[in-house]
Amino acid sequence: MKVKGKSKKLLVAVFAHPDDEAFGPSGTLAKFTKTHDVYILCATKGETGMGPKSNLGKIRAQELKNSAKILGIKDVYFLGFKDGTLSNNLYHKLASKIEKILKQLKPEILMTQEPQGVSGHIDHITVSMVTSFVFNKLPFVKTLMYYCIDEKAAAKMKNYFIYFPPGYKRSDVDKVIDTAKYWHLKKEAMMAHKSQAEDAKTVLSRMEDLPKEEYFLINTK
Ligand SMILES: [Zn+2]
Repeated sequence: MKVKGKSKKLLVAVFAHPDDEAFGPSGTLAKFTKTHDVYILCATKGETGMGPKSNLGKIRAQELKNSAKILGIKDVYFLGFKDGTLSNNLYHKLASKIEKILKQLKPEILMTQEPQGVSGHIDHITVSMVTSFVFNKLPFVKTLMYYCIDEKAAAKMKNYFIYFPPGYKRSDVDKVIDTAKYWHLKKEAMMAHKSQAEDAKTVLSRMEDLPKEEYFLINTK
C-alpha cells in the first residue's frame, strides 16, 4: 500500500458515513490536497441513509468515491461496519482496523469529527473517540484535527436531526481555515452524494450566507 516515491506528507481523515467528508471539512480537505496526500477512511457505507434500501450501501460508497475525486483525495478505504451500529461494542474492532491502515500509510495528520460528532450522531461520536484513542497510540501521528462548527452554524441546524449539539464558541476554536477558494468544490462534493441530494440542498441553503470558513480543535504531541 505504500505510495512509491512519495514526497508529500500525509493526512488521513476518518469518518462514519459517506457524505461526512463533503458536508463536513471538504473545503479544508481540498486545500490540504495541494500540500499533502489525503486519504479517507470511512467506517460504514451509509446503508441506512435516505434512498432505496436494497443497494444503498453500494450507491453511497460510489458517491463517496465521486466526492473524493472532486476534492482531490488519493484513496478511500471502507472499514466494513454497518451504518447505525457503531458503539462501545465495536470500539476495539474499529480501532484495530483504523490502526492497521494508519500503520501502513503513516500520516502525520489525522482528522475526524469533534467529540460531540458535530450533529450528535452516535456513529460520529464513536468514530471521533476511537480516532482519538488511535491517535494517542501512534507516535508518528503528530496532529489530530477535530472538525467542528461554530455556534452560528449549529443554530441554523437546530431542527435538522434529533438533538443537534451546540457549536463551539469562536474563542474555543483552535484553527479557522479560510475555504472560500474551495466553496465550489465543497458544493460539488456535496451534490455528488446524489442519494442525499435533498439533505445537501437544505444544508447548502442554510450555509450560503455564513462565512466560507471551517473550524477545528487541534490536538498535538
Ligand atoms: Zn454521518
